[in-house]
Amino acid sequence: MEDEDIREFAARTGERKKSAEAKLAILMYGLRDAPGIFAGAGNAFKEEHYAYDNGNCGVSKRRSVPSELLLPGDIVVKLHIRPDSPLTLISDGGRLFVRQGDHYLTECMFLQPPAFWAHTTRRGIPARNIAQLYGHSALNFNIFSGCEFHIAGRGCAFCSVNETVDRANPVARVKRVEDLADTCELATRHDTFKYLIMTGGSYINRDREFDRNVEILREIRHRLPWNGEIRGNVSFLPPRDHTKLAMLAELQVENPSFNLEVWDQRNFARICPGKEEYCGFAHIIQSLLYLREIYGPGRVWSNFVAGIVPLEDLRAGFAFMADHGIVPGANIYHAEVGSAIGRSLGTVDKDYITGLYRFAAELYHRHGFKPYFDAAVLRNSLANEFYEGLLE
Ligand code: SF4
Repeated sequence: MEDEDIREFAARTGERKKSAEAKLAILMYGLRDAPGIFAGAGNAFKEEHYAYDNGNCGVSKRRSVPSELLLPGDIVVKLHIRPDSPLTLISDGGRLFVRQGDHYLTECMFLQPPAFWAHTTRRGIPARNIAQLYGHSALNFNIFSGCEFHIAGRGCAFCSVNETVDRANPVARVKRVEDLADTCELATRHDTFKYLIMTGGSYINRDREFDRNVEILREIRHRLPWNGEIRGNVSFLPPRDHTKLAMLAELQVENPSFNLEVWDQRNFARICPGKEEYCGFAHIIQSLLYLREIYGPGRVWSNFVAGIVPLEDLRAGFAFMADHGIVPGANIYHAEVGSAIGRSLGTVDKDYITGLYRFAAELYHRHGFKPYFDAAVLRNSLANEFYEGLLE
């Protein structure tokens, strides 16, 4: 059961605009490390799970650090620790604040660990090794915490999954279907969540990845709270025969996605060489368009990374997607420990961020789309905040 303090904090909706402005600064700069505050909290927070990525520069993965910050009005922001950030976390009178120089940007809280983390699957695997809560209210796991493209030396330049998930990390690298099904049941019983985020491999053999996704979806859909429906997002790369994708609608997947990460094809081949070689830019677009025919406009998604390619390229990708009935979204690039790009890009420019999400909000309103999830879930993105008019 969630703590009353967190519920009251999330209910401070009159402060959402200020929270959105603070989220923008936190996503641009990250925060300085605050080991005293983290240790003082007695690990009573949802800690970084290190299942996909590691944006905590200069921090041992063995030390417990919070995964996210909750801001007033139920806005969640990812915590990325950067030693050179101008933002610091301050404890003042038993409350937490984010400060820049002498200016307090926002109050914040840590989210609690999911209750299902205290349980094990029927095979005795700790459920915390299988899944996590993403933001305030999405159950989240990847079916393979690794990437065969990385193993083949063809990983995406911004991604650190293979560096992040190692033998010292408790997250199970390959998840068995029965453990995933048990974990979904445990989370449904012990926690409250509104969405599922399920992410695929990536496997070099595209058909094997598709078959694994389908096998898992069949097993989990009746262990979730939505009568067989999969509310939220299932994301992977399409099989060779894209017509197999009709199965996703039969399995009641609400929002399938294939994430292109960057636009256009030349940038894609340069930044995501494995996705290009083993799946292909053209095939991903063909598959998105095929699913759009089945689902109709506004239900199929493709996600991007903001800040890697020129803004005009990314805006062209957003426009293409929206014109074809596919909802584009983006996470703001953050330096990942062990990725090829790492910290070489520095801070993503504020004009880039506002230029992209303002454009995205216009597209969403014009086409009758909604951004993914909500501001309590989408911790690395400002799509909801711009859509709501909290940022302009
Ligand atoms: S396909 Fe790219 S983004 Fe996905 S896990 Fe592999 S390297 Fe990372």
